[in-house]
Amino acid sequence: MNCPSCNSVLEPGRLELGLTLCLACARANPVPKVRGAMVYAHKTAGAICLMAPDDFTRYRKLTNRRGQQSVLRNVLHANGRAV
Ligand SMILES: [Zn+2]
Repeated sequence: MNCPSCNSVLEPGRLELGLTLCLACARANPVPKVRGAMVYAHKTAGAICLMAPDDFTRYRKLTNRRGQQSVLRNVLHANGRAV
């Protein structure tokens, strides 16, 4: 089997794993990893929310606590303080 991108022969190890791109093409065009985060939409059980790396970065920015302050301060104007 050949790589559909560069038409070179696929490495046998990658073929056994079911991968379709050769190592050089896979390294040249890496697939972004899907990230997951625990989301508590209900009080009894959490769920894993899968998201793209950019969405995960934004999620962490909005939900990451700094010290004892509420996460609401991450989304409020002027961090929720009176201006
Ligand atoms: Zn290739």
